[in-house]
Amino acid sequence: PDPILDPERQPEDNDRALRPQGLDEFIGQAEARANLRVFIQSARQRGEAMDHTLFHGPPGLGKTTLAQIMARELGVGFRMTSGPVLAKAGDLAAILTNLEARDVLFIDEIHRLNPAVEEVLYPALEDFQLDLVIGEGPAARTVRIELQPFTLVGATTRMGLLTTPLRDRFGIPTRLVFYTDAELYEIVVRNARLLGAPAEEGGAMEIARRSRGTPRIAGRLLRRVVDFALIEGNGRVTREIADYALTRLGVDHLGLDGADRRYLRLIAENYGGGPVGIETLSAALSESRDALEEVIEPFLLQQGLIQRTPRGRMLAQKAWTHLGLDAPKREAD
Ligand code: ADP
Repeated sequence: PDPILDPERQPEDNDRALRPQGLDEFIGQAEARANLRVFIQSARQRGEAMDHTLFHGPPGLGKTTLAQIMARELGVGFRMTSGPVLAKAGDLAAILTNLEARDVLFIDEIHRLNPAVEEVLYPALEDFQLDLVIGEGPAARTVRIELQPFTLVGATTRMGLLTTPLRDRFGIPTRLVFYTDAELYEIVVRNARLLGAPAEEGGAMEIARRSRGTPRIAGRLLRRVVDFALIEGNGRVTREIADYALTRLGVDHLGLDGADRRYLRLIAENYGGGPVGIETLSAALSESRDALEEVIEPFLLQQGLIQRTPRGRMLAQKAWTHLGLDAPKREAD
């Protein structure tokens, strides 16, 4: 996708000022939040480590933010790593043995854990024990290390890629959903205030509507609109300057960018609206299958622009209308 709309790109997220710090400050995901509040309070009351929690859903919806909030509300330490970074069993062991009692360990992209590392993780999750093999060949022996009880918080954009044994070890699986325009509106207004650039209602709504249901994108689009407001406008985030800036950035009225429109147009113009297989799309667009399935398609599906069928992807009527094209006449049956 275009960098401006890529929900996985996160350089500006280092700006801590915008990250909600507590459950009360966190906007949206009402169901997940209500449940987490109960589980956090219960764990605190019992003085135990909270159950292992799995957040799944598209990138940029707040999985990392919620993990940090959990640690803060539990009053425990927070450690963060990711599946691809944990190359060897020893890397995981080093982190686990350094945890203090009841700490939260966050593993992003947990579906990308190396199987050898995953094996070591099972007993750690179940019995807070590590079984490590030391040495090689006949001299190899296993040592058992007792760990402090801890909470694993896993995050994944691809629930389907998790092995069943790993999935089964999470007591609290939590699905995050796209945000409504009203929720994104609140987030944009809050962020604009924190950035010191007040947003008018129409300006905030325009950004909210064009943020693909994703707070990370809302934050990024807001920053760019603020740039245009300061340099080419009167410093205020108005509807006009938001529309002008977003259009200049190639973000259309549904929040689709060039990559989304290329995807839709390919199916429309080269495959008569589908069905067409994901591998074919991936090759034709020079995008990895993962990027299509994790980043581009979830929002197009949620918006009802495409459908997934057993024979491949198909354009819905809404996509034809959005592209300004006529859907081919299908034979009545
Ligand atoms: P993920 O881990 O799911 O990719 P993050 O937790 O990193 O997403 O959130 C992405 C960005 O969006 C962060 O900058 C975060 O501050 C912001 N964000 C996420 N959820 C919310 C929310 N509910 N309210 C305000 N900002 C949010």
